[in-house]
Amino acid sequence: MLTMDSAGDIPGGDVHIRDGVIVAVGENLDVPGAEVIDAAGKIVAPGFVDTHWHLWNTLLRGLSDGCPGTDTPYRSGYFKTCVTLGRQFRPRDTYEGTRLACAEAIDAGITTVHDWAHNVRGLDWAEAGLRSIAESGLRARFSYGYETGHRNDRLMALDDLAHVAARWPAYSAGGRIHLGMAWRGNGGSNPAMRVAPKLYREEIEAARGLGLPVTVHACGPRAAAGQISAYAADGLLGSDLQLVHLNNASPEEIALAATAGTPVSVSPFTELQIGYGQPVTARLLAAGLATGLSVDTTMLSGNADMFAIMKVTQACANALAYDEFALGARDVLRLATIEGARTLGLDSVTGSLTPGKRADVIVVSVDAPNIGVLTDPARLLVTAAHPGNVGTVIADGRPLKRDGVLTGYDITEVIRSARDALSGVLARV
Ligand SMILES: [Zn+2]
Repeated sequence: MLTMDSAGDIPGGDVHIRDGVIVAVGENLDVPGAEVIDAAGKIVAPGFVDTHWHLWNTLLRGLSDGCPGTDTPYRSGYFKTCVTLGRQFRPRDTYEGTRLACAEAIDAGITTVHDWAHNVRGLDWAEAGLRSIAESGLRARFSYGYETGHRNDRLMALDDLAHVAARWPAYSAGGRIHLGMAWRGNGGSNPAMRVAPKLYREEIEAARGLGLPVTVHACGPRAAAGQISAYAADGLLGSDLQLVHLNNASPEEIALAATAGTPVSVSPFTELQIGYGQPVTARLLAAGLATGLSVDTTMLSGNADMFAIMKVTQACANALAYDEFALGARDVLRLATIEGARTLGLDSVTGSLTPGKRADVIVVSVDAPNIGVLTDPARLLVTAAHPGNVGTVIADGRPLKRDGVLTGYDITEVIRSARDALSGVLARV
């Protein structure tokens, strides 16, 4: 068992869960009457924490190159395709895309997701996404955003955000989901996307006025460097502002972010796929930034395989440093668990198998050709395992995957409904 806290590894250890809470961790726990999940000879670890994922566009998996037969021809690219197809989304499509993403998350051992909802075309779209997440059983941050293709000279729908914030207990699934704001920031490097300082300042001030954490894409493409300096000059950096990507941030900007205590999300597969350059995870960690890992979008990453995300994160860090030991397996596993939780302000709730925390637990089998035999469990999770090895997933004390099967979904029906929804989207383009 990998606790990912100061208790370290406990070979053959038990986790006692009661009413959704980890009440004890240790060897040979004696709990008369408790239901037993036998994990002997397997790897038990905290559920993975995703720190930035546009769940809605999982419906568009495989379409980042464009969509033949529509006005987004082949090679139109991720952003244009996302906007063109995203405009045709109805609330039901957001529900279906989010549901497919949640099912995939659970299957892959991810127990916390950060839904970076940037196709909120109205209150109904936000509620559709939230309903999907609530039904999934996952722990989540829902970052209420704007609509994809939102005009840069208009404010995002701050009244709707305030409406949801005021009624949050009705959406929070008993506290499993917390609210944040997905912020456009200054819009990055493309002049066509630029948001005026008056607007972006008003937006972040509105979120902070509601006490909400904020997230923003920053320093993705090479030309976008300078965003962090702009936010620092405005006094907008802080521990409540998550910065996403940072591939091309200068050392000075990384230092500014570190001084302000801003957390960071790294999404290695999408950053590599879209041409942002290499993730710079080891540099971020060396600067002292709280760092988590993320799926970002399955339009680019293809899937939500946190094992592969950990593996490529480690490989890129070592390659960049010309050093086999630049980023260790255990360190990258921390990014996918406790450190990811820390970036979302959830480190007292999840991210490690610690008494008092909510019970988010995975059991990974080593009875498969790709992962047998059991040697160094951390290194096996980072370099060998894949979602098919995940036998059991428990989130908030509820088993959401058992014996390799999702308990809350008829996956055939989930996929059929998603297919129907996508057909409707494409027909309307
Ligand atoms: Zn993103």
